[in-house]
Amino acid sequence: MNYSAEDVRKALENKELCVYYQPLYVTVTSQLKSAEALVRWIKKDGSIVSPASFIPVAEESDLIMDIDWYVTELVCQTLEKQNYMPQFPISVNFSRKHIGEKDFAKKLSDLVDKYELPHPLIEVEITESAIVSEENRLFEWITSIREAGFTVAIDDFGSGLSSLNFVKDVPADVLKIDKSLLSHNCEDEKERIVLESIFTFAHRLHLKTVAEGVETKEQLAFLRSCDCNKIQGYIFARPMPEEDYLSLCMAHKAAEEPADILQMQNHASAVNLLMEVVFRRYPLIIFTNLSRNTYYAMVYQNFTTTSCPSTGIFDELIEHGTASMHPDDREIFSAAFNRKKLISEYYAGKQEIHLVTRQLGDDGIYRKAETFYYFVKSGNSEDIIAIALCQNLTD
Ligand code: C2E
Ligand code: CA
Ligand code: CA
Repeated sequence: MNYSAEDVRKALENKELCVYYQPLYVTVTSQLKSAEALVRWIKKDGSIVSPASFIPVAEESDLIMDIDWYVTELVCQTLEKQNYMPQFPISVNFSRKHIGEKDFAKKLSDLVDKYELPHPLIEVEITESAIVSEENRLFEWITSIREAGFTVAIDDFGSGLSSLNFVKDVPADVLKIDKSLLSHNCEDEKERIVLESIFTFAHRLHLKTVAEGVETKEQLAFLRSCDCNKIQGYIFARPMPEEDYLSLCMAHKAAEEPADILQMQNHASAVNLLMEVVFRRYPLIIFTNLSRNTYYAMVYQNFTTTSCPSTGIFDELIEHGTASMHPDDREIFSAAFNRKKLISEYYAGKQEIHLVTRQLGDDGIYRKAETFYYFVKSGNSEDIIAIALCQNLTD
């Protein structure tokens, strides 16, 4: 059935719009964590109209903004009913039109404050823009909402023209991976590689991840092997009326045993945690393939050395590094990391090399830099691989 904007406006005025809640669960523990508010139009005769049938027409005008604010108010009322019960954060969908809305963050704060609710209980969902020129406005909008204490999720990631550049720069808290990226049981090798990379990438950028539209056991099993934080999908629960959601929250909290994340987590998330610590200690890590004369560098925050490209030719890296050394240290550095010499040392059974040199930072100051260089065995190749862990020393 086709509805006109007028029909939808009347439904809003007659309070026929209401909110269903779909719970989200922690991937590794299956514990209830939060919910998404999804609007429904419940007609006088009891029939339910899905948002797909009336949101598009509402989006043609500012009517969508009124609907979103109305939904937000209903969400606050639901949370208020949970005042003496377990409360879980609820995310609300906002049309992109709100990016142009004056004082959006203030308006949201005022509404949530009226119900005396903590701001972190509300999450704003917005879809990514395909329009690059809008990106700066979107980023400013997101920042202002986060500064007001709310969280922000990027919805439907991967459904459109998403770019990695966008994810790299977006100041959001959460990335919701669109269901179109998941096939029925995630059996396709390439699809799995893409998904695994997205989760790892998001983690390294400190974005939390949600997989949407999870329906099958196979999808769930695969997502559990990835570093995905939350699951939303029919496999756990469908969107449900407020009353059912409130009982679910009560039951879940009562049954909940605090889970020990270390017992539940998978290898990928354990390695990611470990990387956090290693990175904190060694802000520059360089993987080198001596057989192929290549390297791959991971740089955490601003390491003070003259920045090097993230991949390239090993010999050039050493040349570049030598040039940035204090003149008195250049010879030892280039001798220590001469590739032919490293290879012969490797065959002679050497395991590691340790070196402290003075290096010129981007700020023009020499600092002591310490390098630990370890030969490692890769299970997949005969190439000679070594990893350099580098840190600045404070005198
Ligand atoms: P969305 O934000 O991507 O919401 C997720 C949609 O996926 C929901 O459809 C949900 O019911 C559905 N879904 C959840 N799990 C599964 C699953 O396992 N399999 C499948 N096939 N589908 C699943 P719904 O409720 O029909 O909402 C459709 C869209 O309407 C939403 O997509 C959102 O873009 C929009 N929408 C809903 N409520 C609002 C609102 O209050 N404001 C605005 N601006 N848009 C809304
Ligand atoms: Ca959404
Ligand atoms: Ca979505």
